[in-house]
Order: sequence, then C-alpha cells, then structure tokens
Amino acid sequence: MSEQVFLITSETKTYPWGKTGLASLVAQLASIPDCDVDENLTYAELWMGTHPAAPSRVHGSGKLLSEHLAANPQLLGEPVINRFGLKDGNLPFLFKVLSFDKALPIQIHPNKTLAEHIHANRPDRYSDPNHKPEMALALSQFHVLCGFLPGFQILTYLSSVPEFAAMFSQDLIDNLSSAVQQKDAGRQKGALRELWSTLLKADKAVVEQNLTALVGRYRSAKVSPEEEKVKSLLLRVHDMHPGDHGVFCAFMMNYYVLKEGHALSVAVGEPHAYISGDIIECMATSDNTIAAAFSPEEDKDIDNFLAGVQVSPALGKTLIQPTMFTPGSTHTNGTLVFNPGINELAVMQVIVAKSHIEGHRPRRGPSIAIVTDGEGTIVWADGSKRLHVKRGQVVFIGQGTAVKFSAGESPFHLYRAFVEVALN
Ligand SMILES: [Zn+2]
Repeated sequence: MSEQVFLITSETKTYPWGKTGLASLVAQLASIPDCDVDENLTYAELWMGTHPAAPSRVHGSGKLLSEHLAANPQLLGEPVINRFGLKDGNLPFLFKVLSFDKALPIQIHPNKTLAEHIHANRPDRYSDPNHKPEMALALSQFHVLCGFLPGFQILTYLSSVPEFAAMFSQDLIDNLSSAVQQKDAGRQKGALRELWSTLLKADKAVVEQNLTALVGRYRSAKVSPEEEKVKSLLLRVHDMHPGDHGVFCAFMMNYYVLKEGHALSVAVGEPHAYISGDIIECMATSDNTIAAAFSPEEDKDIDNFLAGVQVSPALGKTLIQPTMFTPGSTHTNGTLVFNPGINELAVMQVIVAKSHIEGHRPRRGPSIAIVTDGEGTIVWADGSKRLHVKRGQVVFIGQGTAVKFSAGESPFHLYRAFVEVALN
C-alpha cells in the first residue's frame, strides 16, 4: 500500500518566452531538488502532473506518477476516477508554474469536440483529445491580454489610429459601426469575427508597413488621449514580437495587470496572451494550444483558431474571488481557495506564519502541492507521519487525507491544486 503523501519530481520546459537562467522562478524552484540550471536557457514552465509531454515521477524510485496511481487507485479515489473517466492513473488536472518576460502566443484552447477533431487530424501537433480550460494566479505583477473588447471600444481605436484602420476595408468598419449603433449583438459578433479573421490573414508586408508607421509615430510624436492608454503596451509587445500581426490585438483585447495573489480564469475558446510575470497555472490535463500570433509561422493555426474562438465581447472581466478554506483545526486561517468554476480543478494558496500550523480536512480527490517559499513539515495520519519539505519541492497528497502544514522559524508558502467530486 502506498504512502498517502510523497514527494514527486517535475520537469521544466524551456520555451523561448521563459525568463533566462536563475532569473526564472521556474529554474529557481526546479534547481533546489534536482535540476542543474543552465544560465543560457529560458526556463518557461514547470509541469506537475501526469501529462505525457512532461510527466511527474515518484521521487526516489523514478517511477511515473501515473503508473504509481494506476497501481494505487485509492490515492485518486473511485468518485474522481468515475466522474472524469480517468484511465491509467492519470489526473484530471495539470498544475504548472510559469515564469516569462516575453509574450506567449496569442491562443485559444479548444472545447472537447474541436480538441477531438484536431487531435485526430494532427496528432503530432495536438497531443491529446482533451479540452483545456485554465486559471492563472499571479505570484508577481502579471500582464495579460484576455478576451475581446466590445465593438464600441474597437471603433474608438479604428477612428483614432489610422495605421490600425488601414488593416481593414471601409465596408468592414462601417458594418461594425452600424451594428454597434443599432445595438445588434449578433451582427456585432459577426463583424468582430470578420475583423479578427482579416487581421490574422493579412499580408505580412502590409502588417509590417502599418506597424512600422505606427511604432514610428508612437516613438516620436504626440498621440491622442485615446492612444495614450494603449501606447506603452503596444510598444512593449512590438519590442517582444516586432512586425507580428498580434501587436494590433492591443486595440482588440482587454488588457489586465494583476497584482500578486490575484487570479483569473480563461474559458475554452477565449483568446488570451500572457505577456509577462510569474504565475501558478492550473488546467484540465491537456496541451492543446491553438496559436494565432506571437509564434513562429509553422506554429500558427489560423483556421482552427477562428473555428474555436468564442466571440464574447466585454469590457473587463471578474477576477476569481478567493474564499477562506474552513480549517479542520483551531489553528490559523492561512488558506484561500481559488475556484475558477472548472470541474477538473481548483487551487489553494496556503500561507503558514512562522511557528504556526495550518490544518486541511480531507479532500474528496487527489492533490499536488508545491512549496514556493520557506520550509516546513507536512503531518498526516493523525500525527504519526511527517515529511519535511522546502522551497521547490513538490508533493502528491492522496484523496481522503487530512494534512497539517507546520512552519518552523520562517513562514511557509505552498500552492495546492486539487480536484474534488461533490457529495451526492
Ligand atoms: Zn492558455
């Protein structure tokens, strides 16, 4: 019978948008248990879970976590296995740390139907048939583009930014304008979809010509008050991806700067681009990303992007409101639950003050926790078992296990991703 709580090892991904060497939080966390950091590599992501593209292993034995869970299904629990149709010891969620100073591709994640379709057609590129709703929780200031701006806001940019308007026909702009004036939501969506389609399929030379003119004007001349709002963002993403048509998305998408501890969820089909920051990310177990900009030509898939994108224009979005986790003990209340409304996952932020203990009642599903700061002890089995953990270490916690996190002389910070099936 397996232990209920044990250390796992996780893999890093060195994508081009990652921060370099030990400047990356990913490298810092990974370096402590077992990774030799190469100061020339860009450490973008740390993956914790059972996705085959970077599966976690049981620390010590080196056995795949999925193999271990398949042999010990009680760690997942029958309700979770049945609810998500889990096979071969796989978890329903994938947990990550991201650290990046260059914008990730502008992307969407497919729903299940589109995911099955693209996986069947291009298994080399779309490695699984799963959907991928996700949430992101900021560990430092987090800049992100997410979701369509409403038509009236885009029209304001079209009338104040000639280099942006030059990307579209006057008919298309007039069509959007009349849909907005008549408050015709259906037509507005259609016009926005066409605007995106036109931009994403635009001739590269035309994009570069208009961007060069725009960036030149922003660097040298006074701009309108409307443009002032977006100027620094636009110049920043242009420096990251010069000449890329995605730079114009600064006029078409909502821009957020999240503070540490703030979180947002990304729905299936919602366009987004993470620009810079250090974040905790959690998603349904999938690597299905359909990119449309800020990526090499061969990685873009404009047709499937347009097929899967949900046009739901809105000014701003509601961040995930965390709730206090009712502790299973009389100790401190240092746990917040971020529940994005995605069946497969939620994330707890656990901050244990110096010399304090934070108790978690049993969860009806498996979880994975990473120590992001300090060190401490995890205690379970009514106090008979304990494991000392420090920054960078990752543990698996089997379903149904009550645990206590105990800090020593310094505070102890963890993030714990979990899935839970409601009681009938
Ligand atoms: Zn994403």
